[in-house]
Amino acid sequence: MKEKEKKISVEPINTSPYKERMCPCGCESMFIPHRRDQLYLDSKHANNAYNNGKRKQSSKNQVAAEKQLRKNDKLLDKYHKLFNVAEAVVASVTLKAEGFDHSFFIGNGMHNENLYYKTYNYHFREYELNGMKLTKILLPKKKIYVKR
Ligand SMILES: [Zn+2]
Repeated sequence: MKEKEKKISVEPINTSPYKERMCPCGCESMFIPHRRDQLYLDSKHANNAYNNGKRKQSSKNQVAAEKQLRKNDKLLDKYHKLFNVAEAVVASVTLKAEGFDHSFFIGNGMHNENLYYKTYNYHFREYELNGMKLTKILLPKKKIYVKR
């Protein structure tokens, strides 16, 4: 004769062997995960967290780029005023030592058959003379931007 099956009572709250945790998406909901690697309450919360993270990263990159552009512009302003000529020439190494980055600019244009890169208020061009890298700085008559 078969033994009577034991009745097991299951508490709905204790079905998961994992401890209650907080959803890290920002909603601050507490939940009991079904799997050990379940980070978020559900896929919707996981997507929210992912999208917020991406937005944050891209705005961080944007802030860094604008910071570098402002720095470039300020350095060109400093050296252009220091030399006090229409076309100032500075050793690129000097500019770089102060934090200038030639790969950050907001546009470019031709001037006297040379390609210049634009910052908010200045145009610059890097060239080589006797093995030395130089940066020529022009202040265009018409300011493109006055962002400071
Ligand atoms: Zn959440």
